[in-house]
Amino acid sequence: MKKISIIGSGTMGNGIAHVFAQNGFNVSLVDISEVALQKALATISKNLDRIIAKGNLTEEEKSETLENITTFTNTQKAVKDADLVVEAATENVDLKLKIFKDLNSYTKPNAILASNTSSISITKIASVTDRPDRVIGMHFMNPVPVMKLVEIIRGYSTSDAVTQEVMGIALQLGKVPTECNDYPGFVANRILMPMINEAIYSLYEGVAGVEEIDTIMKLGMAHPMGPLQLADFIGLDVCLSILNVLYEGFGNQKYAPCPLLVNMVQAGHKGIKSGQGFYSWIHGTKELVVSNRFRKK
Ligand code: NAD
Repeated sequence: MKKISIIGSGTMGNGIAHVFAQNGFNVSLVDISEVALQKALATISKNLDRIIAKGNLTEEEKSETLENITTFTNTQKAVKDADLVVEAATENVDLKLKIFKDLNSYTKPNAILASNTSSISITKIASVTDRPDRVIGMHFMNPVPVMKLVEIIRGYSTSDAVTQEVMGIALQLGKVPTECNDYPGFVANRILMPMINEAIYSLYEGVAGVEEIDTIMKLGMAHPMGPLQLADFIGLDVCLSILNVLYEGFGNQKYAPCPLLVNMVQAGHKGIKSGQGFYSWIHGTKELVVSNRFRKK
């Protein structure tokens, strides 16, 4: 298996293209706009420079990696010879169903179709194809070149052989593939999102301020950062949409998104990507917002 197509060249797509290309795979990277593709190549180049600066890559290996990537705005052309397609387009169920319907008709019948979705059912995605046994979740973590985990999600009909093949490919990328079944939020987000939601409830109810909640969780639990800062990194809109998938999928009130999160997303405060979330990021670094300070009640 050498030919890989990646659909979507955003935050995750460019990282996924990077790790495949650096490990010798032939990558076709697809996006709807040429601008997005050029931005992705620039990001990959910058991230490879970081690895060179740490002494873990040579200039020659960087050139080889970039040469392994070809960009396309035409999906049909990009995927026609692919052995594996990894879809990393925008998290929208209708969009993903359309993409997989197209992939089903554009790819070789034995190609494996994987999705990097954070929360959409792999079984539902597989249902629009005529090869549900060859559809699987390959959930990389952000930033892809750095994070070791790939959550491998078996849809209801995903075969053992395809699961083993995809686990093997993830190992070739130097990752740690870990299997789970297809239920709302899989494992990573089913556990992470309620923690983030509870941190937001703690702020909403005035238990503590942003800084205190993050410090207590960071130092108390030995997490690399607090849950509110992590929510700013992930994107508050993304957190909200995953919580809604959990809430609707399980029909359980415990996953209901905190009203403060709903309000912040409606106000356009989406975290780092919008410059304002639980912290302000407008100056490029984390700054505390006065209204989020701790007040004794
Ligand atoms: P993003 O918005 O950064 O990138 C999405 C890209 O998909 C954009 O460049 C967009 O132009 C492109 N796109 C949209 N429709 C397309 C189409 N029909 N064909 C080709 N390209 C198309 O989003 P992202 O953060 O990279 O997320 C991508 C996927 O990865 C989502 O399913 C998301 O849930 C998942 N994910 C995200 C993270 C994260 O931390 N951002 C982590 C794990 C998984």
